[in-house]
Amino acid sequence: MSKKVLVIGEAREGSLRNVTFEAIATASIISDGGEVVGVICGTDNLEEMGQEMIYYGADRVITVANEDLKTYTSDGYGQAIQAVINDESPEGIVMGHTSIGKDLTPKLASRLESGLISDVTEVTEDGGSVVFTRPIYSGKAFEKKEIIEGLVFVTIRPNNIPVGTRDDSRMGEVTQKSVDIRNIRTVIRDVIRKSSDGVDLSEAKVIVAGGRGVKSEEGFEPLEQLSEVLGGTVGASRGACDAGYCDYSLQIGQTGKVVTPDLYIACGISGAIQHLAGMSNSKVIVAINKDPEANIFNVADYGIVGDLFDVVPKLIEEIKQM
Ligand code: FAD
Repeated sequence: MSKKVLVIGEAREGSLRNVTFEAIATASIISDGGEVVGVICGTDNLEEMGQEMIYYGADRVITVANEDLKTYTSDGYGQAIQAVINDESPEGIVMGHTSIGKDLTPKLASRLESGLISDVTEVTEDGGSVVFTRPIYSGKAFEKKEIIEGLVFVTIRPNNIPVGTRDDSRMGEVTQKSVDIRNIRTVIRDVIRKSSDGVDLSEAKVIVAGGRGVKSEEGFEPLEQLSEVLGGTVGASRGACDAGYCDYSLQIGQTGKVVTPDLYIACGISGAIQHLAGMSNSKVIVAINKDPEANIFNVADYGIVGDLFDVVPKLIEEIKQM
């Protein structure tokens, strides 16, 4: 049955994050030929981003411009999105399982007494119903869910759902909605990004991650060089963060970021279950560890038993010659 589905777009520095396009692809499946309506809040570039959402499959887009939406606060965005939901009465709402999606959707779902299927990694159609797959027990098992009735929020894990082809001949209306936002209890004074090169770990295609085996802050240098030649970014285990070798913003795992790059290179990481919870869905995993019994080899597609300080420079040389 065709449905109207909203997609909450997410932007960073005036450009849409890739997960927005994955959310549009998901909404297209849920809508079953119904209407996919994009929503984008903020202050800058809203018209252009709305147009971009249409090129990727939205039928129309609603922009909410307001100085109070310049940076995300759950009060501000909650009021703006709820106003759009009240106007549109959608049957589904999709957004990324990002820090914003994780904060906003439970709040709105409970306020609207609706369902929430979070952290979806796969969306399939099965005999007329849409099936959502999501990891449970820190990635040790997967469960499948269907929407039986009513409004449901869906958050999708970045880098898992295939994005539709961009088609700049697609037409659709981008309209503005004004929302009176009140009583914001949080004021964001400044945003300081800790990421080394600006690439968002959760959307990176290549991650070179270091563990306690890198032994020091300087030990991350060869990993940074490897990530540079591969066009990726650097991540870390909690062991490396706890030891003070790198910033906690790089931590991957159960209590860090969940990543699904095309290529994950784990250097000097033992493969504790809490680390695997954040990276075991990566498409190709390469492990470099001097202990042949290390648990990381149980999830790796390719394993190199050796000292990372020998192996990583050799990899860099080989890749440079390709
Ligand atoms: P270690 O376990 O010390 O492993 C270091 C590895 O490096 C070893 O396998 C060793 O053989 C190898 N090595 C050493 N020298 C070299 C070398 N020169 N060359 C190659 N290999 C070398 N951890 C996370 O990562 N993320 C999380 O989100 C997280 N959340 C947690 C939540 C809870 C509630 C708890 C209890 C723990 C959590 N942990 C998390 C911690 C986790 O249990 C492990 O302690 C941690 O992942 C270990 O980090 P590590 O693999 O870098 O270090």
